[in-house]
Amino acid sequence: MTKKDRYKYCLKYFQQNMPNAETELIYDNPFQLLVAVVLSAQCTDKRVNLTTPALFERFPNPDILSKASVEEVFLYIKSISYPNNKAKHLVGLGKALVEKFGGQVPLTINELITIPGVGRKTANVITSVLDNQPNMAVDTHVFRVSARIGLTTNAKTPLAAEKQLIANIPKQLVHIAHHWLILHGRYVCLARTPKCEECGISACCKFYAKHCMN
Ligand code: SF4
Repeated sequence: MTKKDRYKYCLKYFQQNMPNAETELIYDNPFQLLVAVVLSAQCTDKRVNLTTPALFERFPNPDILSKASVEEVFLYIKSISYPNNKAKHLVGLGKALVEKFGGQVPLTINELITIPGVGRKTANVITSVLDNQPNMAVDTHVFRVSARIGLTTNAKTPLAAEKQLIANIPKQLVHIAHHWLILHGRYVCLARTPKCEECGISACCKFYAKHCMN
């Protein structure tokens, strides 16, 4: 199967079987999504969703967050990975939104990456989720799943994988393909023991052809 065929096959499968895939982070507005995505680095969405209700109640907008102490924010997020750094980032994030962006979450990568705690991956998530921009955030799931299926070849870094995926996925599907690959990695193509026998795209998977077929 050619690479082009792999893309065609798995994108069609996902379109048919996961037409409404979306982020599992719970949020009500762009500010809350940005905070949740920053918190989700090296942490599960499930854990973030347990933490954010109280956090959002105490710090409902960028202005209030910008005036908070790092110590108080820490108390709300201490069960999340890297709470010290993330507490600092969140206060800085509140300040940046208020001082540079009028309290709004900007929707360009270049603006987003100036905000504390926001790197390229987070900026890609924000712009694709909030604005359907054709940006691909490559996290650990996307990186692993894409390589196993054979959608990426010899991609050594997330950025290399991102470039290959963007070059091959039709522009209008990039924003949802991000969720397809994440959810497939989270529930089927698990890191240690991929559930190949119940996987709907095994027919186009390079890993399956190499390791699971007699
Ligand atoms: S066949 Fe296995 S390795 Fe390939 S995508 Fe499915 S679960 Fe992952």
